[in-house]
This record gives sequence, structure tokens and C-alpha cells, in this order.
Amino acid sequence: MAESTSRNERHKRAMQRKKAHVDGRIAEATIDKGLLLVLTGNGKGKSSSAFGMLARSVGHGLRCGVVQFIKGKWECGEHALFEDHPLVEFHVMATGFTWDTQDRESDIKAAVETWQHANRLLSDKSVDLVILDELTYMLTYGYLDKTMVLEALANRPKNQHVVATGRNASRELIEMADTVSEIENTKHAFDAGVKVQKGIDY
Ligand code: ATP
Ligand code: MG
Repeated sequence: MAESTSRNERHKRAMQRKKAHVDGRIAEATIDKGLLLVLTGNGKGKSSSAFGMLARSVGHGLRCGVVQFIKGKWECGEHALFEDHPLVEFHVMATGFTWDTQDRESDIKAAVETWQHANRLLSDKSVDLVILDELTYMLTYGYLDKTMVLEALANRPKNQHVVATGRNASRELIEMADTVSEIENTKHAFDAGVKVQKGIDY
């Protein structure tokens, strides 16, 4: 009994110290600005995190734009949910996975065409959040000019948030970003032979 009382007291003191620390950190964070977030790494959770932020933003009535640079074989739940939403402008690059098209010339043409939507969204002050899903591949494959993309990101409206996803984010993109998460692949069901699951994978 006495032991559990003293443990409870120690816990209470630890939580009081933690609260003072957290409250202090919150009070120090006074800057309000549009963020560039980069979600990269080999683990699952990059695009689904970006679409989680889309759902949050739409929930708050914010105007959002989505540009998906690689389209999978399956109709994604996020596209089905948001494509006709009045707060969301949704563009999907018409091609498919680059390992399916196997045609660099047509991939470049599609990437450049799709970038026009991104570029327009990135210069529109009324758009609060822009998601550039699988953008990193356009840069690693050299489908889009890196300087052009970085300049458009740097010159966007100062309160606009951007989320860029994809593996192997370039050093420049990481340097420019305010928040970067590198998602590690600890384990993935696919490696154990499990096929893609609706709602989880697409
Ligand atoms: P998600 O859209 O599920 O958040 P992601 O954006 O992090 O995934 P991508 O590389 O874009 O990952 O891959 C998209 C698809 O591949 C999803 O169906 C996802 O479940 C699957 N996937 C993601 N990471 C892995 C992995 N490490 N091994 C196998 N499949 C993966
Ligand atoms: Mg993805």
C-alpha cells in the first residue's frame, strides 16, 4: 500500500515537471507559417499520412490541392472520397508506375503536364494545403527539373502548407523542408506474401 502511494506521488511529481517543460516549449513556439513537410523512407505510411493531413485540413474547412505523380493499378480510397469534394482539387498523373510504362519519353511528358497543376496550386494564395504525392520519383528519375520544383516550393504563398512524399527525397528538398519524417521499414506484410488490402494499401 505504502509502496503504491509513493509510486503514485513520484508519478505525480514527474508529470508536473513534464507539464512545466511541455507548457514552456509550447509558449516558445510563436511562429505561424506555411510548412513544407517531406515524408520519405522505405516504410509504409508516407502517402497515407499525407492524406490524413488532407482529411484534417478539409475537416477545418481549408482549401486543398492534391497532385499524385504516380498512379497505381487500384482506385485509391482517398481519390474516391475527395475527388468531387468542393474543397479539394485532385489531379492524378494519367500514366501509371514507371516500371509498368517502361517509357521514359512518355513518362516525362506526363510528369511535365501534371506539374502544371502543381505549379498553379503553388502560386494560388487561396489554397491552404498542397499534397505532392510521390513527387520525389519525378526528381530522382529526372522527369522534372529539380531547380524548377525547388523554386516553385520556395516562392509559394507564405501561409501555404505543402506535403511531399516518396522514397529517397533529395538533400535539397530535405534541407528546404520544415518537417521531415523518414519512415523506416521494420516489417511489411507484402514480404510475407500478403496481397494488397483495400483501405490499408489503397
Ligand atoms: P501508403 O500509401 O500505404 O502510406 P507509402 O506511401 O508509404 O504507402 P509507397 O512506396 O508509395 O508507400 O507504396 C505504396 C504501396 O506500396 C502501398 O500499397 C503500400 O502499402 C505499399 N508499400 C509501402 N511500403 C512498402 C514496403 N516497405 N514493402 C512493400 N510494400 C510497401
Ligand atoms: Mg506513397
